[in-house]
Amino acid sequence: MPLIAAVRQVFAADGPLVRDVPGFVPRSGQTDMALAVARTVQGGGALVVEAGTGVGKTFAYLAPALLSGARVLVSTATKALQDQLFLRDIPRLAASLGAPVRLAQLKGRSSYLCLQRLDEALHGDAVANLPAAQQRLLQTVRLWAQRTASGDVAELPALDEASPLVPVITSTRENCLGASCPRAAQCHVNSARRTALAADVVVVNHHLFFADLQVRESGMAELLPSASVVVFDEAHQINATGLQFLAVQTGTGAWKRLAADLLLQAQGPQRGYADWHGLSGAVSQSTQAVAALCGSSATMRRLPWLDGAPEGIDIDIWTAALARMAATLEQVCRCLDLLADADVSMQLLSQRAQTLHEQLSVFAGASPHGMVRWVEVGQQVRICASPLNISAVIRQHVALGEQSSRAWIFTSATLGTDADLRWFVEPCGLQGARTLRVESPFDYARQAALYLPQEFPEPAHPGHSAAVAALVAEAAMRLGGKTLVLTTTLRAVQAVRVALQEFMSRQEVGGLDILAQGDASKRELLERFAAHAPLPARGAVLVASASFWEGIDLAGDVLQLLVIDKLPFAPPDDPLVRAQTDACNAAGGNAFKDIHLPHAAMVLKQGAGRLIRGERDRGILVVCDTRLHTRAYGKKLLQALPPMRRLRDAGEWQAALAGLSEPMAPPPEN
Ligand code: SF4
Repeated sequence: MPLIAAVRQVFAADGPLVRDVPGFVPRSGQTDMALAVARTVQGGGALVVEAGTGVGKTFAYLAPALLSGARVLVSTATKALQDQLFLRDIPRLAASLGAPVRLAQLKGRSSYLCLQRLDEALHGDAVANLPAAQQRLLQTVRLWAQRTASGDVAELPALDEASPLVPVITSTRENCLGASCPRAAQCHVNSARRTALAADVVVVNHHLFFADLQVRESGMAELLPSASVVVFDEAHQINATGLQFLAVQTGTGAWKRLAADLLLQAQGPQRGYADWHGLSGAVSQSTQAVAALCGSSATMRRLPWLDGAPEGIDIDIWTAALARMAATLEQVCRCLDLLADADVSMQLLSQRAQTLHEQLSVFAGASPHGMVRWVEVGQQVRICASPLNISAVIRQHVALGEQSSRAWIFTSATLGTDADLRWFVEPCGLQGARTLRVESPFDYARQAALYLPQEFPEPAHPGHSAAVAALVAEAAMRLGGKTLVLTTTLRAVQAVRVALQEFMSRQEVGGLDILAQGDASKRELLERFAAHAPLPARGAVLVASASFWEGIDLAGDVLQLLVIDKLPFAPPDDPLVRAQTDACNAAGGNAFKDIHLPHAAMVLKQGAGRLIRGERDRGILVVCDTRLHTRAYGKKLLQALPPMRRLRDAGEWQAALAGLSEPMAPPPEN
């Protein structure tokens, strides 16, 4: 059967999905998206699809891709979404379509157990220095290592991604022994790459995709040319993720580690072959000279580096400090080069010094056109150079237009505020791609309400966070928790949390638990928040920022009230944002209109999207930023939100809160 007809049949009322997938209902938006993907798979080129929450975009791109029989590469934003596609969505769909596929997923090397490093950890002295809890966890890892087939550390829920044990039992490019490794034959990293190269459908994540475009070591360089269909799900993240990997970063942390490892050689087999103390001391002194110029900061801050040196640092002194560091690294490279054939560890050390030297050379002389530099100052100093966007690299790989036989699909629930999806398309260099917007099937006017309190402190007012907390406390008490507060800064998370805790401590009975970002991992916080929802459990309010604005799915009654403290404009003094602003204005654009407003609209839309996740969900969104009704641009931002009904005053707000505990009104009859 031709692909288009086959796709129509899959999503039809008498199709296999209705038969096999519990709760599946044919929806015209999902079918439209699937047909657009099918046409692109057949004809090649790039398609950008914004599919509102609830459209079912995953099946809409997977069905045509699987039915085409082509080799498919799917990239998604996080490892959790990668697992969901690999373990649940693709097997379920392939079974329903009767289209068996060889499926594989590939993650970065830090996701796989390194058997060699586990052996070293179990038998070396370092294990004795680990805290008791980590030693117990290491024993759990040892037992799991005997039975795991994939070596994917996500199989071990007890091992959090941020655990200090993860770097102990996983490898990096720098410390992997490669072909000389005694465990190379059983290596999970190598095995995952071999399986991916032999598979029909491979699931990766954006981090791996862009990291590998840079370093070409995980097999993506071979995977990409052989894939006929490439899908980026959660594509709104690719510009930010791509920039992280296209940027060159180096600094005092890496230099200090090199100095320490050079010093270690003074006791190793190569001890008599070089002046290790002298080399290590030279690296340390050059490092200190750079660090002393930048200072340190308890919280990370970014120093713009617009002219010859970072803001506040004399150009000549800065240039001399970097030149001294470069000369020191050159000296180390020369020495290690002579010893590189001695053994694998010497070879790895030599490569590392070479890489550090090459990275630093990027910062010599004036910044190239289209790049921006800055210095990050925290406990360490990191110097960074980044392109302004990922357009050049995407254009290099994505051939646009019908002449390309490869199909590129970019999809997400939030890609723009206009039909051309310019917010996403332009920085990604995808001008000329076909675009499609598919509206959410949810009945927002019936399921959700939007409240913008009129009498509220301005966002810059010192009492703003306290006012947010007062509104949240009163409403959340009525709902028994079920409230998520999204703030634009971590400082506001703390201010709102403290005010809420004070309020709850004054309650004689029936207070709520206050959870805040930073108390535990994101996964644990969300699990704790969801566990509070069923009555008679004590209710909870979750206060968070940054990563909680997207990618969290609190369906059903778990979340009924979503409060956003301020409009999420990008920080204007951030060096990258400043450089993007200058470049836009210099090219005759209007950076506020072309960059900042669409960016804020997209983030606001992402945040608001946390509220309604299913057709039976109900809730209220409150945005505590008076600029939405006092500034001309407020209307534009409101248009980005789903079409919720507006609560006009405090009376309607109170009534809507009361209404959340009553049964939902049935949909109007057609
Ligand atoms: S080859 Fe590298 S990643 Fe694999 S077991 Fe050996 S050291 Fe670890």
